[in-house]
Amino acid sequence: MTPTNVKTRFAPSPTGRMHLGNLRTALFNALLARSRGGRFLLRLEDTDESRSSDAHAQTLMADLRWMGLHWDEGPEAGGEAGPYRQSERGAVYERYYRMLEAADRAYPCFCTERELELSRKAQRAAGRPPRYAGTCAHLTAEERERRRAEGRRPTLRFRVPAEKTVVFHDLVRGEQRFPTDEIGDFIIRRADGTAAFFFCNAVDDALMGVSHVLRGEDHLTNTPRQLLLLRALDLPQPEYGHINLITGDDGAPLSKRNGSLSVAELREAGWLPEAVLNYLARLGHHYTGEVESQLLDLQGLADAFRTDALGRAPARFDRHQLSYWQQLAVHRADEATLAPWLERLDDAVPADRRRALLAAVRDNILFPDDLAEWGQRVFGPLPELAPDTEAVIRDAGPGFYEAALAELETTAGDFPALAKALRQATGAKGRQLFMPLRAALTGLCRGPELGPVYALMPVDIARCRLEQARELAATTP
Ligand code: GLU
Repeated sequence: MTPTNVKTRFAPSPTGRMHLGNLRTALFNALLARSRGGRFLLRLEDTDESRSSDAHAQTLMADLRWMGLHWDEGPEAGGEAGPYRQSERGAVYERYYRMLEAADRAYPCFCTERELELSRKAQRAAGRPPRYAGTCAHLTAEERERRRAEGRRPTLRFRVPAEKTVVFHDLVRGEQRFPTDEIGDFIIRRADGTAAFFFCNAVDDALMGVSHVLRGEDHLTNTPRQLLLLRALDLPQPEYGHINLITGDDGAPLSKRNGSLSVAELREAGWLPEAVLNYLARLGHHYTGEVESQLLDLQGLADAFRTDALGRAPARFDRHQLSYWQQLAVHRADEATLAPWLERLDDAVPADRRRALLAAVRDNILFPDDLAEWGQRVFGPLPELAPDTEAVIRDAGPGFYEAALAELETTAGDFPALAKALRQATGAKGRQLFMPLRAALTGLCRGPELGPVYALMPVDIARCRLEQARELAATTP
């Protein structure tokens, strides 16, 4: 693919853990860049000093890397448009503040938080949506000086032009129109001198050459403000696309209660990055044709990614769907990916049998805990039997297990040989032969193919379980 000028970005605020929502935003932007042979940039929006921390930034970058979402430009990757941490870009912002002030497109505002709150209240009471009333919009130089002399520290507000309409084409939602009279003059520099979101986010996109911004629909109403700023500064405007937010499985905003998981929690539980990426890539974006249900790598996901396939329907978190992708990912995972799962096995599972155990049960497990459970089933004490398992054992009767015990030594670990000998001895075949064996040996009525599991099971354990089954079958419930 020939390189293009497409550049996308992920611009998180390092104030907490990364969750499915912002992970999907990162993914969509990475896919859009890759689908067009462009570049994907990471920018840390850490101007809110009280909430941002370097520890969060480090975790965030580790999470992105674990997911395989590597950035071409940004912290630690470098690039010509850096620095990529907004906390280090104060001097850049200062230049643009001065330009706006010189053109009278921005003015100092001395209103206190309390005054602003009172004004908002009054507007609400009058049935109007609250917006800045313009109190400081036309102060004279003397009035400003007097307030400064009183020790008031001003914010800087952008002067929104009156009676205009900001029109833009949203990549997901089509044409958007916002009358400027509904937008109050807004703060672009806080009283402590730090840059406010609207300003640094827009200015940085322009200065970093970002061509496309995919972000949550909660930012949709910010976009007209940001476009006004960019136009006032004569800076290039990216194309914006606002994607629907992920809701919980109950349709309510995603939260701990209804399925929200942090990347750290996903990793800890054993979800594989490939599964998570394949799931998220389809949450609010439609793949059509044969790739719809195929597990794809990042390039595969990118090749079929199209902004016009971004949907507006609610994106509901669905654990079953995620599990579907996990199953495919576990099936396809290479040894290195699943190596940590082997390390989490109990000591009861001999080191030289662990890989064989994984191979035997791989298509029936989703998580390292499932593997650990199978480790117990094959090498540890038999877990409690489920009621349906008990019924199967009783139906088979003690004679069946007696016969199985008689064939145990001679067929040592060879399941087909055991099955054959047992068929000859008891006349049982098919389900009637296999189900009682499965129930007795594994304590379950369903599970992976029995042969490989049986081959791994120490003969003493197999004997003990068949004996237990024989006892159980001889008793009445
Ligand atoms: N720092 C902003 C956020 O995390 C970025 C929004 C955007 O993508 O423009 O919400």
